[in-house]
Amino acid sequence: MKLLFIVMDGLGDRPISDLGGRTPLEYANTPNLDKFANLGMNGLLHVIAPGVTPGSDTAHLALFGVDPYTYYTGRGPFEAAGIGLEVKEGDIAFRVNFATIDDSGAITDRRAGRIKQGTEELSKLLEGIEIDGIQFLLRAGTEHRAALVIRGEGLTDKVYGNDPKVEGNDPPHFKPLDESPEAQKTARILTSYVMKAKDILSKAELNQDRADKGLFPANYLLIRGPGKVPKVPNFEQEYCLESACVAGGGLYKGVARMLGMHIIEDERLTGGTDTDLSAKFDVTLEALNNYDFVFTHVKGTDNFSHDGNYKAKTEFIEKIDKELYRFLPENFEQDLAVMITGDHSSPCSFKDHSADPVPVVIYSSDCRVDKVEKFGESYAAEGNLGHLLGKHLMGIALNELRLVHKFGA
Ligand SMILES: [Zn+2]
Repeated sequence: MKLLFIVMDGLGDRPISDLGGRTPLEYANTPNLDKFANLGMNGLLHVIAPGVTPGSDTAHLALFGVDPYTYYTGRGPFEAAGIGLEVKEGDIAFRVNFATIDDSGAITDRRAGRIKQGTEELSKLLEGIEIDGIQFLLRAGTEHRAALVIRGEGLTDKVYGNDPKVEGNDPPHFKPLDESPEAQKTARILTSYVMKAKDILSKAELNQDRADKGLFPANYLLIRGPGKVPKVPNFEQEYCLESACVAGGGLYKGVARMLGMHIIEDERLTGGTDTDLSAKFDVTLEALNNYDFVFTHVKGTDNFSHDGNYKAKTEFIEKIDKELYRFLPENFEQDLAVMITGDHSSPCSFKDHSADPVPVVIYSSDCRVDKVEKFGESYAAEGNLGHLLGKHLMGIALNELRLVHKFGA
């Protein structure tokens, strides 16, 4: 039996009066999701713990059975792994923006005008920089985004970055967050690196061209989100499942890559919220031919939640639902278990994540069934899975696959 795990980012929501007191998921017309709910086991998932609002990074760790309280050190390592930087245990990793500063040193655009092309070329100009024996590895991601890994002795993630999150002022200095010599050193070499990078980037031909065209040059690096690369459990070894990740967002690929999953790189997955859902689930279907476990991540639900756009969220859930026919038991040739949930709630009324639990459904060909007939927050509360913690989800799924993690004789 194979296992498909679909995560709709920020899926959970609260009742909305314009939707007749239902949530976007409950209001949406979702015959396929409802079929899984009808045939499967339903429950509510407290992804990290009741009352704790997950980040997308900590949430995904928990969903894969990895306790974020033990293993999470910051977002940087996952972002870095997600854009393909090879991170090693003990490295310090950061999120980076290519940004613009003017002649006076003030930040005029934190995203260099959301630069579309050329950051790869710019990051190549910064290759091979070493300061006091510390290696600096920068890799460009999509648009203005990049990640930085620093590697060497005597480093720490106990530093505060230089991204003020607002424009108009000079970037703040890197600050050590404690008195340790490691924190002093890390702040000092990051300062030197950023100055050096600024010199190189300001002279880059691409930036001269951008300035001539009236575009924001990508002449500065804003660095934030430090994390020491942790030693995390290997998902494949832990669960004896050959595993693949179908995602577009760097963070999700990064979590999966660090846990040892195979990352499906396919240009059909690179469109962000605009990714062709049909293509994404085609890729998923192909991956299920080659792997025991496929994790498919869909981001748009969360983006619409952050905009407070419950109509768009509802329509997007309907679009996802349309694509799930492939995985219904009557359409999928092999024995397939399907698990569907969100990584956290993002109520449209909050325009942000919340600690509300998310509905989860687990279907397998001979699973226990409950009386739930539709997939939704209030229906799931009546299901036979009850209230679960995210870190227990994989164990429950493995039980469906007869890959029981036995405790005792
Ligand atoms: Zn999320």
